[in-house]
Amino acid sequence: MSELASDLAELVTANHILAREDVLDAFGHVSLRSPQADGEYFISRSRSPELVVVEDLQRYDLDSKLLGDDERRGYIERVIHGGIYKARPDVKAVAHFHSPAIMPFCVADIVWKPVTHLGATIGTDVALWDSQAEFGDTDMLVSTADQAASLARALANSNAVFLRGHGAVVVGGSLRELVMRTIQLCRNGDVLLRSLPFGGVTPLTAGEIALSGAKNLEPPVLARAWDYWATRAGH
Ligand code: MN
Repeated sequence: MSELASDLAELVTANHILAREDVLDAFGHVSLRSPQADGEYFISRSRSPELVVVEDLQRYDLDSKLLGDDERRGYIERVIHGGIYKARPDVKAVAHFHSPAIMPFCVADIVWKPVTHLGATIGTDVALWDSQAEFGDTDMLVSTADQAASLARALANSNAVFLRGHGAVVVGGSLRELVMRTIQLCRNGDVLLRSLPFGGVTPLTAGEIALSGAKNLEPPVLARAWDYWATRAGH
C-alpha cells in the first residue's frame, strides 16, 4: 500500500472509531490535511461517518473547493476544516461533532476543564465561539468562509473550541493525536458533569496538564489507544 493509501485508510478508520465511541453519529466529520500538499485536505463526501469507505473520500483546497471530478455532495460544514488548516499550519487533522457528552458546555454556563489525566490531552482552555456575536441569527451551521475564519480565530492556538448551541471542533498534529484528543474531550466532559453535583471538583494544575498532556501524546501511548479503538470499531 502506498503511503497516501495508508493515510487514507487511517482516515476511514478514524471515521469508524469516532462513530463507535459516540463522538460522531449521523452528523459530524473528520478530515486529514493532505500528506502530499499542505494546501489540500481529504474528507468524506456527505455521509454518516460510520458508513464511510475509502471511495467516499474527496479532496478539497483550503477554500473548501472540490478538487477532482467527484461531484457527489460534500458536507456543508467542510469550511470548518479548510478554515482551520488555513489558520493553523501545525494542524494535520480536524474533527467536528455534536457528541451529547460535550453539549452542556455549549449550552450552559459551565466551563470545561481537565479533571482527569487523559483530559489533559486537550490542554488548559477550551474557548466558546458564539456565532451570534459576529453573524446574528443564522441556521447555526458554519457554512461560510467568514464564519470558518471567525471560528478559527476563537480556536486560536488551542486544541479545541466549543460552538454555542452546536458542538465542538478538535485539532491534532496527526490523526492519532486527533482521535485521542476528541475522545478525551468527551470523556473528561462526562466525568466533570457527573462530578459537579457532588461539589469540590478539583481540576488539574497547569503543571499537571502540561506533563500529563505530553505523556498521553507519546507515540507508544497513541498506538496502544488507537489499536484498542480500531479493534472496537471492527478494524
Ligand atoms: Mn455541526
